[in-house]
Amino acid sequence: MTPVVRTVADLRALARSWRAKGETIGVVPTMGALHDGHLSLARRARAECDRVITTIFVNPKQFNNPEDLKKYPRSEAADAALLATVPVDAIFAPLVEEVYPEGFITTVSMAGVAQPLEGHMRPGHFDGVATVVTKLFGMSMADKGYFGQKDWQQLQVVLRLVRDLNVPVDVVGCETIREGDGLAMSSRNVRLTVAGRAKAPVLYAAITAAADDIRAGHADRMAIREAAEAMREAGFERVEYIELRDAETLMPSDDPRRPRRMLAAAWIDGVRLIDNIPV
Ligand code: AMP
Repeated sequence: MTPVVRTVADLRALARSWRAKGETIGVVPTMGALHDGHLSLARRARAECDRVITTIFVNPKQFNNPEDLKKYPRSEAADAALLATVPVDAIFAPLVEEVYPEGFITTVSMAGVAQPLEGHMRPGHFDGVATVVTKLFGMSMADKGYFGQKDWQQLQVVLRLVRDLNVPVDVVGCETIREGDGLAMSSRNVRLTVAGRAKAPVLYAAITAAADDIRAGHADRMAIREAAEAMREAGFERVEYIELRDAETLMPSDDPRRPRRMLAAAWIDGVRLIDNIPV
């Protein structure tokens, strides 16, 4: 069985013992309810590092919606069983009090890439992410940190964070893992009803069609409007945004010579889904 570490002191003792032997450490931060997307990150870490730590921590500071935090799926025993198949060397699953003890007052706050889209729709979200990622990097003494492109803006935020704060962690972005019908794997997918699950792949299909149209020379706005319409027709109750942005800064971009990304967030059946693809 994979050792489960609960305290920062124990995690650092483990990390120090590995470092003393010259072993490299990869960390895979997650909020649990693991699926193949998470496991692909852990497998990549396994291939590139001597030691792999997967963290399972539902970080209250990155939830702007208390209902979402309360409803967030938790399944540590099943997660451990999945991680044993990779395998990883340790699971770090601390209590909230261990990560944010009495008196905790520091926030890593970011402007720029953290502000639009998810930053706009979910105020405080990326400050919560930046704070916990900074802490997890420090606690795990990792050489490399693994993040999914599924959360593209988060990946850009973390890349910017390590540059700005000189954090000695090499951030690795990993491909989005999808279900057979194109739906990006997400811990929140388990909350979808059968009907919602059947319609959910339209998100990926719609942005893929829009990206194809834009590459074929159609006007950006028109292609995006059609994608939003297709989603509404399929039963999405709300399309929060579909945007074509500079892939790194996430600012509006109409320069096709720069790498661009189409990003979308939409609600189906009371579940908020996000996805993104290169354009
Ligand atoms: P979460 O548990 O949702 O916070 O995700 C933990 C990490 O797994 C993040 O870096 C996510 O981007 C990544 N991740 C989540 N879903 C996927 C997916 N479908 N494909 C690849 N990476 C993913």
